[in-house]
Amino acid sequence: MYDPIEMAGETREVVCRGDRRKYYRFRPARFYGGIATADCVGCCLRCVYCWSWREVANPERIGEWHSPEHVASTLIGIAERDMPSARTEATRTDTCTSNGRESHGVHLVRR
Ligand code: SF4
Repeated sequence: MYDPIEMAGETREVVCRGDRRKYYRFRPARFYGGIATADCVGCCLRCVYCWSWREVANPERIGEWHSPEHVASTLIGIAERDMPSARTEATRTDTCTSNGRESHGVHLVRR
């Protein structure tokens, strides 16, 4: 058994550097009618059927550092390229409630 709170702190030491965070992929996806998403490395949980185990288990070896501004502009670019009918609005969420990690996001609003 592990302590997810303790693991969140350990993970943060690896994946956060000031306001920069490690991500391994930026992509469009078909979910929710079409999204632009940034996949980060590291997690404070260890689900048996994790969809992203390689990135969860190896945060020190995978991913690159990105600023919030870079993440937002990349996601907006994906959204505008792949979802031209969407109006984009960049937002920043300081703390993810599920895992205590800093996270970034872009909200898409359909016209
Ligand atoms: S990334 Fe998701 S599925 Fe994988 S361990 Fe973390 S919470 Fe579970």
